[in-house]
Amino acid sequence: MKERGLLIVLSGPSGVGKGTVRKEIFSQNDANFQYSISMTTRKPRAGEVDGVDYFFKSREEFEELIKQEKLLEWAEYVGNYYGTPVDYVEQTLSEGRDVFLEIEVQGALQVRKAFPEGLFIFLAPPSLNELKNRIVTRGTESQELIDNRMKVAKEEIIMMDAYDYVVENDRVDLACERINAIVVAEHCRRERIAP
Ligand code: 5GP
Repeated sequence: MKERGLLIVLSGPSGVGKGTVRKEIFSQNDANFQYSISMTTRKPRAGEVDGVDYFFKSREEFEELIKQEKLLEWAEYVGNYYGTPVDYVEQTLSEGRDVFLEIEVQGALQVRKAFPEGLFIFLAPPSLNELKNRIVTRGTESQELIDNRMKVAKEEIIMMDAYDYVVENDRVDLACERINAIVVAEHCRRERIAP
């Protein structure tokens, strides 16, 4: 029987660069991890494509998915729902392939309960000031949303201790290198030869 894949969870405050780091990892590493595309009720940003960046859903559709237990985890984040489809994650892991989630902190803590054997990596900003600069520079949020995201970010940073690893995102290339190294090390740590 094939070994189950590893569930890799990359989390951290909004604006820290999780999306950028994840895209960079996948541009180098497509064959090794499968990215789980999330569901959200947030409206698409310019350039975002349904089924590629997210599965965009109405609130009613999302609430139906919750009711039918189709989500491994979900969270309401700054007024919108976000969640991970459970069937895709289960199916991919059972095929022996690693699944990579990029999610916010409340969701990661739920996944920790369901998959204590997962690998949990917290992407940290060099500082809170730097985090605010990044959210402002992205230019996609109003002042009110920026303030909300910063408030949530401060609460999220406190949760860092619940993770297996903390990776500082000072430079995207270095953060990706560290994450790839952690995944390789984790596979070696778990490697066992059948008796
Ligand atoms: P954004 O609106 O910037 O795309 O995402 C907002 C936050 O939601 C980010 O921190 C992102 O990582 C997180 N997120 C994206 N997908 C999911 C998901 O499936 N579950 C949870 N809990 N958070 C998610």
